[in-house]
Amino acid sequence: MRTQVCIIGGGPSGLLLAQLLDLKGIDNALLEQHSRECVRARIRAGALEHGFAELMREAQCGQRKGREGEIHDGFFIADHDRLDRVDLHECSAAPRWWSTARPN
Ligand SMILES: Cc1cc2nc3c(=O)[nH]c(=O)nc-3n(C[C@H](O)[C@H](O)[C@H](O)COP(=O)(O)OP(=O)(O)OC[C@H]3O[C@@H](n4cnc5c(N)ncnc54)[C@H](O)[C@@H]3O)c2cc1C
Repeated sequence: MRTQVCIIGGGPSGLLLAQLLDLKGIDNALLEQHSRECVRARIRAGALEHGFAELMREAQCGQRKGREGEIHDGFFIADHDRLDRVDLHECSAAPRWWSTARPN
């Protein structure tokens, strides 16, 4: 088998790289030691950082995230009996976090 790029591992990095190479017309093969079913069922990332969400959009694989994902607009910090909420939309350079349900 001949290919321009061989990617070892079908985790988020390998899968995204394969998709980006495909979009640029660069021939690639991805080798994964586990079965497709195992890779699809395992838990990897439920909350996605903004930069990664943007990269998924660029890779044209963010449709489900766009449909079903929930934008995190804040979080709580617990300190003994105190609970502080941080509102991300109040910060001008706020990172936005996404979360998606576990894949079926
Ligand atoms: C339970 C859990 C929850 C998480 N939640 C989040 C989250 O909410 N947000 C977030 O950003 N991150 C989260 N992470 C972290 C995230 O999953 C990792 O950062 C991410 O999986 C790293 O991706 P990767 O492709 O670099 O490596 P991996 O996901 O580890 O993928 C590597 C792949 O390479 C394969 N492989 C390894 N060696 C070989 C070989 N010799 N031949 C063939 N295949 C091989 C492995 O089987 C694997 O499929 C979570 C991780 C776990 C375990």
